[in-house]
Amino acid sequence: MRYLVSACLTGRSCRYNGSHCVHPLYKEMLENGEAVPFCPEVLGGLSIPRDPAEIRMMDGEKKVLTEAGQDVTAAFIIGADLSAGLAEREGIACAVLKNGSPSCGFGKIYDGNFRGQLIPGQGICADILAEKGLFLFNEESFAASRDVTLKKLREDDLKELIQISRDAFLQDSRENSPYGEGGPEGYDSIPWHREAVSRGRFYTIRLKNKIVGGLFYSLKTDRSGWVNRIFVKPDFQGRGIGRRVFFLLEQKHSRITSWGLDTPVWAEHNQNFYKSMGYEPVREIFSREAGYNLVVLKKIRIQEAGVRPVQL
Ligand code: SF4
Repeated sequence: MRYLVSACLTGRSCRYNGSHCVHPLYKEMLENGEAVPFCPEVLGGLSIPRDPAEIRMMDGEKKVLTEAGQDVTAAFIIGADLSAGLAEREGIACAVLKNGSPSCGFGKIYDGNFRGQLIPGQGICADILAEKGLFLFNEESFAASRDVTLKKLREDDLKELIQISRDAFLQDSRENSPYGEGGPEGYDSIPWHREAVSRGRFYTIRLKNKIVGGLFYSLKTDRSGWVNRIFVKPDFQGRGIGRRVFFLLEQKHSRITSWGLDTPVWAEHNQNFYKSMGYEPVREIFSREAGYNLVVLKKIRIQEAGVRPVQL
């Protein structure tokens, strides 16, 4: 599989100051033909070197300004559109983006005041690639989750998996829920997990073959899929593992055109995570068992280019 990769990560000296930020993984991916390098700022007609620029919100819109106040937003949009066109022509469904950049930033960008302060956000090119349906990683989440695999849940795995489920849901509810500690139905029950295995597809999430989480989903004949449950061991959260799992899922079931899931109304961090992968909230439903509302989110897949089913 090939990925669009921010060119500076592969060793190209295309940053604003003429430098690069080569990362061994992306250099290797370039050498073995897995990475298609791109620099949206250069594609947009900006020179090397160029004045550094940062994003500011103005009247609810993202503008990219140099420190001297020159508005370079148009060049950033042109470069982002050309990058999306490149992905389409090359049949590429996934991009790895350099965090912090006003173009490529995915997760963090500078705050617009040229004082080296990072804030949550994403760059102009990340916005446009996401709109076109590309699956996005930043350089850290892609590298940290590269060895993630999914393996069908076996009887031998049950005890370990349920301990992980218990730890993950208890930590989440302890830290975020105003309704007290707990988890979804059967989260710590062997019979529930056995029954779930018989009803659908239950996988262990593995990092270098060590179990770090679980994924339970189902498919319908109308080419839609539903993620019933996903959880990752607390020590392994924040490393891009969940994002990689969703990517693997979409790759494996490339014929599925829409995915859905639900999450507690209080779990804003989960909602933001799903939104960052193209899911949109569609409604709220009351869960009698939980005693609070769940937000239902759906993702319509619009980018099928280059997708080939993968073996999980
Ligand atoms: Fe690297 Fe993207 Fe900036 Fe180009 S625009 S230098 S690829 S981060």
